[in-house]
Amino acid sequence: MGEVNLEHVSKRYQDVTAVDDMNLSIRDGEFVTLVGPSGCGKSTTLETVAGLTTPTEGTITIADREVTNLPPKDRGIAMVFQNIALFPHMDVYDNISFGLRLRDYDKNEIDRRVERAAEIVQLEGMMERMPDELSGGQRQRVAIARAIVREPDVFLMDEPLANLDAKLRVHMRTELQRLHKELDATIVYVTHDQAEAMTMSDRIAVINQGELQQFAPPLECYNEPTNLFVAGFIGSPSMNFVRGTVDSNGLETPDYHVEFDPGQLDGVAVGDEVTLGVRPEDVYLVQDADNVANPTQQISARTDVLEPMGDEIFVYILTGEGETAGMEAESDDTHQLLMSVNPDKDIDVDEEVDVVLDRERVHLFNTQTGEAIAHGLEFAPVEAETTGTEAEGDD
Ligand code: ADP
Repeated sequence: MGEVNLEHVSKRYQDVTAVDDMNLSIRDGEFVTLVGPSGCGKSTTLETVAGLTTPTEGTITIADREVTNLPPKDRGIAMVFQNIALFPHMDVYDNISFGLRLRDYDKNEIDRRVERAAEIVQLEGMMERMPDELSGGQRQRVAIARAIVREPDVFLMDEPLANLDAKLRVHMRTELQRLHKELDATIVYVTHDQAEAMTMSDRIAVINQGELQQFAPPLECYNEPTNLFVAGFIGSPSMNFVRGTVDSNGLETPDYHVEFDPGQLDGVAVGDEVTLGVRPEDVYLVQDADNVANPTQQISARTDVLEPMGDEIFVYILTGEGETAGMEAESDDTHQLLMSVNPDKDIDVDEEVDVVLDRERVHLFNTQTGEAIAHGLEFAPVEAETTGTEAEGDD
């Protein structure tokens, strides 16, 4: 059984807190990815599980056994690293079986395990090849097979695809998913690449500056990011963020107003500084918004830069003052929205456009703390005839 538990794990080096009070409860058979920008503490977290680093505080259990101070070899884990270190003078069979031979496993048992591992990573028929006769992807498969033959409770993988070219990386992503299904093993995987995290994992742990931000299935992180960091990190291209102030019937941004009833939302009051978040695919040209059940009011804008991707066009639009301010607006995201448009759209730069946001896909965050306030604004304000005077007289 391969449950992994980190309880209040911290790792400090002199003046750096690499891991800060990390709590993670990873289920048996789960594929969990630790993801975050470079230097956020992913590798250090994994190393505490592997036994390559001793945490300053906290405890780690693997398969119900506390392993915090055990050496790596006694933890029931196998690691696969970014740098594939194969023995150059040994063929594939010897590279895969090296660890087992070192531990004096029976020859038949070694053969059985190597054969099964080779089948899983599709290296059959290549047992006699030398490492320099293998492609990068094949070498990485040898490294994975070497981990498989140890039959560990838990696989720990630190950026194992980082050195492969882009096409092979995408291919290996599907291979790793297949491998996970076949092995039925727990995999803890480290990457800075949010696309890798999104596509392979059962759950992802988003980390920033040593602290866990959100631990949830990929789509939950995408659709209900717990704070501004997760919202900005997960998803490519990134979510648009626009700052504004809550008023009695919505959010006033410098260029437009987004209506909702603040009374219906917990954790926001009139006057609060709030950041609106909306993903590029949730911004629509008015003429394309027929299927949007609950659009915001129209926002006038001007197209600035187009990025045709083949299957979609990314269109940067400038709103409000930005429409005419040109270059000035580029430094301030508040006047810019990135939208995704159908590739057959006849759209040009410097064109006047009206857009709407899908109100049900708009996120609100507390600008100061970054914490999410709402995902989706289904509460449109009630049509009020006398809002002005009533609001003023309110005590
Ligand atoms: P990531 O894997 O997310 O890129 P790391 O876990 O490697 O991040 O590092 C987290 C932080 O801890 C970084 O600021 C890094 O410089 C620091 N760090 C890692 N290892 C050491 C070490 N042995 N000594 C001092 N600082 C370290």
